[in-house]
Amino acid sequence: MSQLIDGKRISQQIKDELREEVERLKEKGRNACLAVVQVGADPASTVYVRNKKKACEYIGIRSKSYELPEETTEQELVGLVENLNKDAQVNGVLVQLPLPDHIDEDKIIRTISPDKDVDGFHPVSVGRLWIGEKGFLSCTPAGIIQLLKRSGVEIEGRECVIVGRSNIVGKPMAALLLRENATVTVAHSRTKDLKKVTKRADILVVAIGKKRFITSEYIKDGAVVIDVGMHRDEDGHLCGDVDFADVEPHTSAITPVPGGVGPMTIAMLMNNCVETIRTQEERP
Ligand code: NAP
Repeated sequence: MSQLIDGKRISQQIKDELREEVERLKEKGRNACLAVVQVGADPASTVYVRNKKKACEYIGIRSKSYELPEETTEQELVGLVENLNKDAQVNGVLVQLPLPDHIDEDKIIRTISPDKDVDGFHPVSVGRLWIGEKGFLSCTPAGIIQLLKRSGVEIEGRECVIVGRSNIVGKPMAALLLRENATVTVAHSRTKDLKKVTKRADILVVAIGKKRFITSEYIKDGAVVIDVGMHRDEDGHLCGDVDFADVEPHTSAITPVPGGVGPMTIAMLMNNCVETIRTQEERP
């Protein structure tokens, strides 16, 4: 029988560990504060921002909200981020993406100080990840590593295939699996004979952004399957990039959607916030 990798339970476990750590750090006079910036009122972004603030409250770190109107100019946003970079009371700066079309996202990501880059998207954070230096890790891939480790899935020496090469999931996922000594292949839309490639995988991570795209034909018997995708189907139910009902019987372990990768992203964001107040000695 396949093991269901329970992201809800594991993310709760991580948040509880962080809550205890934050309490200990507070006793030493170290307090974290996260600045959360949202431009416009995109409903999905509003839900994400609300959940991030709720998670901050749960683990005991302060959050400061900046809700800016849709018409905010790029210059105004750059100005706010620069002020937050300088603000000694603020340890982490998060600008909720996507931004309105008239604002260059890359420019904003580059404006956030690498020392406060809790999303891990700044080129300095990305570079540190690839050369194996300590730094903020991109939250979704870092969450996947925790899901695997805390579910007893061995990574070292295993054949890992990632489908998708985005900057926020596929690429950092490859770096993190490599760091764990896996053999890593990254597939994408130009990959020839995708099924042949995915069938090599002991661990398959799917981040394509296409509803129920991966069926049992893509799976090696006994593989571990991690589904990053998040969609609503025709009936309004949440589903992933993997056709769960078809694939699950062929796996040794699999993440559900919802309740798999999703909850881990916020837990790892919280870990990055706590990272801002850990000293060198306290880092895990
Ligand atoms: P993205 O930026 O759209 O990237 C999709 C990737 O999939 C691209 O690299 C693309 O290849 C590849 N691809 C598309 N069609 C393909 C095909 N037919 N065969 C092979 N590869 C194909 O997506 P993303 O931001 O990584 O997100 C992927 C999914 O994860 C989305 O459903 C998103 O909502 C979800 N997501 C969830 C979380 C979470 O916390 N749970 C976080 C982030 C994202 P090319 O590069 O060649 O175009």
